Amino acid sequence: MGHAERRASLREHLHTSGLDALLVTDLLDVRYLTGFTGSNAAAVVVADPGGDAGTDLLCTDGRYRIQAAEQCPDLDVVIDRPSAPAVASRVPAGTRLGYDSATLTVDGLAAVRDAVPGRELRRAPGLVGRLRETKDDTEVAAIRAACELADTALRDLLDAGGLAPGRTERDVALDLEDRMRRLGAAGPSFDTILAAGANSAIPHHGPSETVLRRGDLVKIDFGAALDGYHSDTTRTFCLGPAADWQRDLHALVDTAAAAGRAALADGTPVAAVDAASRSVIDDAGYGEEFPHGLGHGVGLAVHEAPWLSRNGFGTIAAGQVVTVEPGVYLEGHGGVRIEDTLHVVAGGPAVALTRLPRELIEL
Ligand code: ZN
Ligand code: ZN
Repeated sequence: MGHAERRASLREHLHTSGLDALLVTDLLDVRYLTGFTGSNAAAVVVADPGGDAGTDLLCTDGRYRIQAAEQCPDLDVVIDRPSAPAVASRVPAGTRLGYDSATLTVDGLAAVRDAVPGRELRRAPGLVGRLRETKDDTEVAAIRAACELADTALRDLLDAGGLAPGRTERDVALDLEDRMRRLGAAGPSFDTILAAGANSAIPHHGPSETVLRRGDLVKIDFGAALDGYHSDTTRTFCLGPAADWQRDLHALVDTAAAAGRAALADGTPVAAVDAASRSVIDDAGYGEEFPHGLGHGVGLAVHEAPWLSRNGFGTIAAGQVVTVEPGVYLEGHGGVRIEDTLHVVAGGPAVALTRLPRELIEL
């Protein structure tokens, strides 16, 4: 789907929300609606192009004049700053202008108000964010490509013997990130989590100078950024033959992950997907050792709605791309997480975009 079609979808929501125009200030929302990738921008999308509210506008600063013209040839581009007040001031008076109260800061809103004195501004939280939850074909293709790149990087690391006793967590993490970049990634989607031995029991452990040792569980949570989209995968390995407790722990999490993936379907409440996986871990007596939600959406942001958790609201819908990532963490010993990024499709099971094997690999 093109950016113009996404703006057309937004117009329908503007009509139902009683807005003549929406001020778009979140950079990823701007990118989603216009294709502009610069680091400073705001946009206005109008409910009726050519009507009283004028036309769609993109505003950025002089550094991006050429880039904006190239990336958004179908849009009127305003070069001015700061972008949000500047573009808001170009919307004709008397129009019902909404802003995204979920993302615009208090200071940002104050600056916009100063630019349009006396104008009524309407809260309109999350209109673009909700559109972004459902991925179009272009987006799914981009996420799939990011997942394939990340898979390849990890396979290459393993093939090269890069996950081995004697290296530090930091060294292996840098190696993996370097491989992703050399394969074409803009960079890692987030700081790689590489946690060995007892550190693997820390859900978001940052790679340290800890040296990998034979017998360690090594948990690797990583992603590739490609064309603005992301992947998110976790695999847990054992350096050498696994002890019984390591094998059992991995098997438990593997079963929980499979239950979560099986429950991930169009129309299922997000809390029910979380419960399907969590109950496996609860029943095994490790409920306290699974202290996070089951997963999250993946798109232009690596962590975005929908949020799959016990308290999550809403239902899974076809077109979403989400992770399923249960984990069990035994403090002082080690932890296992298994995470995949999956595409929810109508009338069938979700399709895993991350394709690395899930069984415990003993290196
Ligand atoms: Zn992850
Ligand atoms: Zn994740």
